[in-house]
Amino acid sequence: MSFSFNLKHEDAGTRARRGEFRTAHGTVQTPVFMPVGTFASVKTMDLKDLADVEAEIILGNTYHLLLRPGQAVFEKFGGIHDFMGWKKPVLTDSGGFQIFCLPEHRKITEEGAAFRSYVNGDLFLLSPEKSIEMQTAIGSDIMMVLDWCIESTSDHAQTQVAMELTHRWALRSLAARTRTDQALFAIVQGGVFEDLRRRSADFLTQHAFDGFAIGGLAVGETKAEREDHTELVASMLPKYKPRYLMGVGTPADLLEAVYRGVDMFDCVIPTMYAQRGVAYTSRGRFHVTPTALRMSDEPLDANCPCPTCCNYPVGYLHHLAKCKEPTGWRLLAIHNQVYYQRLMQRMRTAIEQDRFQQFYDETKASWLAIAAVRSADPVHDTI
Ligand SMILES: [Zn+2]
Repeated sequence: MSFSFNLKHEDAGTRARRGEFRTAHGTVQTPVFMPVGTFASVKTMDLKDLADVEAEIILGNTYHLLLRPGQAVFEKFGGIHDFMGWKKPVLTDSGGFQIFCLPEHRKITEEGAAFRSYVNGDLFLLSPEKSIEMQTAIGSDIMMVLDWCIESTSDHAQTQVAMELTHRWALRSLAARTRTDQALFAIVQGGVFEDLRRRSADFLTQHAFDGFAIGGLAVGETKAEREDHTELVASMLPKYKPRYLMGVGTPADLLEAVYRGVDMFDCVIPTMYAQRGVAYTSRGRFHVTPTALRMSDEPLDANCPCPTCCNYPVGYLHHLAKCKEPTGWRLLAIHNQVYYQRLMQRMRTAIEQDRFQQFYDETKASWLAIAAVRSADPVHDTI
């Protein structure tokens, strides 16, 4: 079954959109947040946990999976779904962002990105064709083109060079696709330069991609720049194809981007914060490690229905975090993923009911109120 996107409703007062996309492994409601499963595993969470948090689609990282376990393992298992037992949709990135994170150890040429494996030192050339070949072996439902992501602080000339190479690589990726059941998304680049963002969106939307990502953000620009460029690019993308803001972000970032017409998100924050003993709650970001919580018999969030909040007092979560017990990391990860999924559900409902502006205003006001009282409260922080 090939990929399709159905724009179900546009909010009457904002640019927020309510839709769904269909893949060979099921239908996903948008706007959607995708938990990140870097190594074909959402950190600390097994299939039951992913079911508990009602994740509809997860993300895998092509770069890491290429290095370990490698393409042959995915070919042996017939793809990531049978390998990890996850039967719902999977999106894979192309490896471009991870290459960006290795400036000392990689070389970008017209052909691709050459780098050494951090696993065994082997030399790899990640070309657009190799990235598609690997994503085909992984069998993801949505593949991404290889792009050259550079820092948002790069100058206009450098940014233009990277954008133009990204465009040539996007067309090579499209030509390298062999399966009709895997969608392929292009990535709009152009840094913080409006003319380049317009050129990139103009160019890529003329070709037969199934969706479009807004890349090169959350890499050094200001929050205002990120929001302005998200709004600009989203406004230039086709109405009837999904829009994906890569690697973003905090709950506040998601609210701002949905407001500007974005449909898809991924971020490591829910699991990364869990490892640090931080939980998103209806009273703000909650730190479980302060000693004052040692005797707390309260739930993490009285307004949360997740298994962690239903079964464990904060004093226990505090103890696990202090002992660096993996179970403590997992319990907070479950809670944080539920927080994100419930936020997306509330946004979807608000769009359906044409009250997203009200939801946006009220949610921002509630987060500002949290920020106002946080100095008097040692365990809560702003969203
Ligand atoms: Zn909870």
